[in-house]
Amino acid sequence: MRAVVIGAGIVGAACAEALTRDGIEVVVVDRLPVGSGTTSRGEGNILLSDKAPGAELALAQLSRRTWLEVGDLVGRESIELEEKGGVVVATTHQGLGSLIAFADRQRAAGVTAFEVEDPLVLEPHLSPSLPGAVHYPEDMQVQPVLAAARLLAVAQSRGAQFRSGVEVAGAVTDAHGAVIGIRTTTGEVIEADAVVNAAGTWGGVVGERLGAPVPVLPRRGFVLVTEPLPPMVRHKVYTADYVENVESSGEGLETSCVVEGTRGGTVLIGASRERVGFDPSLRVDVVATLARQAVAIFPFLADVNLLRVYRGFRPYCPDHLPVIGPDPRARGVLHACGHEGAGIGLATGTARLIADYLTGSRTTGPDAEFAALLPDRFVGARPASESVEAS
Ligand SMILES: Cc1cc2nc3c(=O)[nH]c(=O)nc-3n(C[C@H](O)[C@H](O)[C@H](O)COP(=O)(O)OP(=O)(O)OC[C@H]3O[C@@H](n4cnc5c(N)ncnc54)[C@H](O)[C@@H]3O)c2cc1C
Repeated sequence: MRAVVIGAGIVGAACAEALTRDGIEVVVVDRLPVGSGTTSRGEGNILLSDKAPGAELALAQLSRRTWLEVGDLVGRESIELEEKGGVVVATTHQGLGSLIAFADRQRAAGVTAFEVEDPLVLEPHLSPSLPGAVHYPEDMQVQPVLAAARLLAVAQSRGAQFRSGVEVAGAVTDAHGAVIGIRTTTGEVIEADAVVNAAGTWGGVVGERLGAPVPVLPRRGFVLVTEPLPPMVRHKVYTADYVENVESSGEGLETSCVVEGTRGGTVLIGASRERVGFDPSLRVDVVATLARQAVAIFPFLADVNLLRVYRGFRPYCPDHLPVIGPDPRARGVLHACGHEGAGIGLATGTARLIADYLTGSRTTGPDAEFAALLPDRFVGARPASESVEAS
């Protein structure tokens, strides 16, 4: 079997690794170099802590296991994979009650979570006024671009081809409508038995071009990067309202503070969420809000300089679930896109599902718990209203 994977971000690269592991011949195509889409804009968190029980949490648990396997395969150091754990802090007593109730539900679904009365034991530089926290030791971190490059290199070492500078324009189908390849914008045809749409935020546009539209839209986010510091933040630390913002469908601006240290010493502060299409402009008020929120939980940050601010466009799906699996409208097309702010963390589990769907393995693919992620839920739905073709 031969598969074309569209997109060399973290999801496409993980798919290439998983498919070649199962003996499938792979051609990865991307209009840009590896990892230059939203993958280069993510913070690299691999989280269970922000997922409510359901299909996405099940995928996150599968992904956590497969990330550790990937770490063993390529060497954890080479992709900066760290089991650093997450600490979710409450800023009010009422918020602490909701946070503990959320953690109880997650524990029932197999997540390890510990209530922490004194968060300073875990994070000595936190504000002493915070009423409590929950510690999630299973949360991890990875360097997304390094990981995408390494996963693609592993696939290439097994014979996969990577064609950069190639933009997919449409599908080539047989007399029965089954996809037998893709056509590029230069008119070249690349034959395949299966085509995987791993085009991230552009998954909606690519889906339409393949005759299998899915409503993936951009959701902009800013991340602040500080000057390098000695180690001050040990875990990924965020406030309890982060989960609410992730799950919200509002178009307006939402900010909730996420703070974490990196190997290089810089501290990353994220992350805003707003639906403004592919508008690249910088909003100073958003940067100021994120900085203020970060200082409220880590007061030492008030005296730290910012080096830079970057932004990216998350691949947002209106029901906040990624689109993973075969499309019933276009035989041979599978989607692996729409992961919003969790595509780094969910990439390896997504790749496992795609490989299982393609090989017919029953280990994970056809399980009912992942049925909520299938593209079937959009069949008959109206096309996405903001699907602008920006790069
Ligand atoms: C500010 C911010 C912070 C984030 N933090 C995290 C985090 O901590 N943890 C986490 O898990 N996620 C995070 N995310 C989300 C994460 O970055 C994305 O979900 C993930 O990168 C999506 O990866 P992808 O491979 O699907 O898409 P991409 O990396 O965008 O790759 C898609 C590729 O498809 C290519 N492509 C598009 N159209 C075509 C075409 N027609 N032909 C050929 N190629 C095409 C593009 O060039 C691109 O390289 C964050 C996102 C943002 C914006």
